Amino acid sequence: MRAIVIGTGAAGASATAELARRGHHVTTLERFGRGHVMGSSHGATRVFRVSYRKRPYTEWAGAAIPLWRQLEERSGELLLEQTGQIDHGVDEALAEITANYEAGGWSYERMSAGAAMDRWPGMRFETDVLCSPDGGRVFADRTIEALLRLAEADGADLHFDEPALAIARDGSGVVVATNRGDYAADVVVVAAGSWVTELQGWADFGITLPAFSVTEQFPVHFPIRDGFTFPSWINHDDGEASDYHFHYGAYGLESPGEGLKVGVDALENFVDLNTRTLEVPAEAMGIAAEYADRWLPGVDTTTGSAVSCLFTMTEDSDFVLDRSGPIIVASPCSGHGFKFTPILGRILANLAEGHDHGVDQWRLPA
Ligand SMILES: Cc1cc2nc3c(=O)[nH]c(=O)nc-3n(C[C@H](O)[C@H](O)[C@H](O)COP(=O)(O)OP(=O)(O)OC[C@H]3O[C@@H](n4cnc5c(N)ncnc54)[C@H](O)[C@@H]3O)c2cc1C
Repeated sequence: MRAIVIGTGAAGASATAELARRGHHVTTLERFGRGHVMGSSHGATRVFRVSYRKRPYTEWAGAAIPLWRQLEERSGELLLEQTGQIDHGVDEALAEITANYEAGGWSYERMSAGAAMDRWPGMRFETDVLCSPDGGRVFADRTIEALLRLAEADGADLHFDEPALAIARDGSGVVVATNRGDYAADVVVVAAGSWVTELQGWADFGITLPAFSVTEQFPVHFPIRDGFTFPSWINHDDGEASDYHFHYGAYGLESPGEGLKVGVDALENFVDLNTRTLEVPAEAMGIAAEYADRWLPGVDTTTGSAVSCLFTMTEDSDFVLDRSGPIIVASPCSGHGFKFTPILGRILANLAEGHDHGVDQWRLPA
């Protein structure tokens, strides 16, 4: 089979590697350079967790663990560290996560706020805390590069600085136009992240994309004070007690060599991708510092560094992974897709080969 993949973020890199591993002829188009920082997949680390309120994500995160280990074996890189992960902040969230742990047979520990502060004195808690030994962190930049290297070794043809402009029908297949020429294939995997709606030609295939909102996020790394260590964490508190409201909660993790990464999604920064500057607004640093001053006494908030990164959200924060004719749409961002990277490649390759991925709700609108 001839496949074109659009994008080399988590989804595109993984699909490229998996399709090439299965012996398909793969051409991958990336609008920016190798390892660029413009999309959603750059940076050293991401939270890995099986703790989810929606059960399918717990199941998929669990299924991803052996695939991460296989990827480590193939690439010779450390990619997933299960250093532990906690949830706190809203009892209803803890109850739903507990139900999913129980259903899947995952080990967990529930402890009081006081016991948790004794264990992690660098953090403050106001509710019980759920602790999962299976969570931790994945190494993002390293993963993308490992996947691209493996894909190349298996014969994939990678084109950087070559944006796909449009898709069009070509018999039962598809032709993808770029500024350098046209590429014909049996299928195309569109893994264009925040740019998915900019690609022309969806109507030619009768595809209506769901509503996506693209926001710019600014996670901040704060230095960790001597003697403190942190698990990866999710705070389900919505920030109502503060001046700001978290849209998607707050999260963070110890990122080796960088400090404690703190993500507080309190700014509604809808972004124009064509005029974006990557500049970090002072307000973003201020909100992260205010959050850390209240919840994370183990970090120094007098200094910190932030990066710009894109969230592409569906209305319900779910993924879109679907096929229509020769077009496979992979927009698994919604702010929590990286931990699933190796499984995304499997699913996208399965869809490209004409199999079903078996998850009904992650469909394009009918
Ligand atoms: C601040 C932040 C924190 C996050 N934290 C976590 C976390 O802790 N845990 C977790 O699991 N996930 C996390 N995520 C989410 C995760 O990183 C994303 O879900 C994932 O990286 C999305 O990958 P993607 O391949 O869909 O998109 P992208 O990485 O954006 O990749 C899309 C690629 O397509 C390219 N492209 C676009 N249009 C074209 C075109 N026309 N032609 C060619 N190439 C094109 C882009 O340049 C880009 O390289 C976080 C995301 C952000 C922004």
